[in-house]
Parts: sequence; C-alpha cells; structure tokens
Amino acid sequence: MQMDYESLLKRGMSRIPEKAIKSSKYETPQTESNVIGAKTVVYNFKDVAAKLNRDPNHLLKFMVRELATSGVLEDARASLHGRFMKESLDELVVRYIKAYVLCTSCNKPDTKLLREDRMTFIVCEVCGAKNPAKTLV
Ligand SMILES: [Zn+2]
Repeated sequence: MQMDYESLLKRGMSRIPEKAIKSSKYETPQTESNVIGAKTVVYNFKDVAAKLNRDPNHLLKFMVRELATSGVLEDARASLHGRFMKESLDELVVRYIKAYVLCTSCNKPDTKLLREDRMTFIVCEVCGAKNPAKTLV
C-alpha cells in the first residue's frame, strides 16, 4: 500500500508544472486565453490585474496600446480584437509589471500608482520612493 501511495504521489507531482512548485510571492500571473474567431479572450484578466494590485482598466489600456488594437472588459474577462498568442500576452504582463508595478528604486512590487496633474507615479510602500511612470493616454 505504501509503495502504491508513493508512486501515485510521484505521478501526481510530475504533472504539476515546475512553476507551481517554485512559486514565490512575486510570481508573474499567467494569462489564460483563447482565440475565438477574430478575437482573443483573456479569461482571467481581472484576476491577473488583481494579483498585480492594479485596476484592470489600466492594464487593458496598456495591452491594447502595445498590441495596437482595441479591447473591452467583460466581467472577469477581457476581449481583444485580433489573434494573440498566450506568449505575447504573458510577455506584455511582464512588461507592464516592469513599467507600472515594480519600484524603480528597490525593485519590490508593493507599490501603488498615483496620478498627480497629468503625471503618473509609482509610489513604493516599502522604501517610500516616488518614481515617475509613463502616462497612458
Ligand atoms: Zn521601493
């Protein structure tokens, strides 16, 4: 019985992607998307934004601008015009994190965006730094 249990456990473990095992607090959220006709639907869009502690509208604005397309939020999902691969979407999330989540001074993700006049700043809750970020128009 013991052997059976162990081999079952091993089989179960081998199915878990390495990323899940090496999970860290700052793990980059992965998009779950599908191309439907001429659109790409990101099913967990709000969830991705929530993990980054950002407004999904801001993340969407960034993505549609980078992809030179248009898109809308539909409840938890985002629907983008055009066919985009998961790899491209995930890479955009990484770029978004670098541009709008990580503190430029200490590299920690515990930050928030602050809009002042027409400028956007990343305010760090760890080191207190306030660095300008690109403003999304
Ligand atoms: Zn900082």
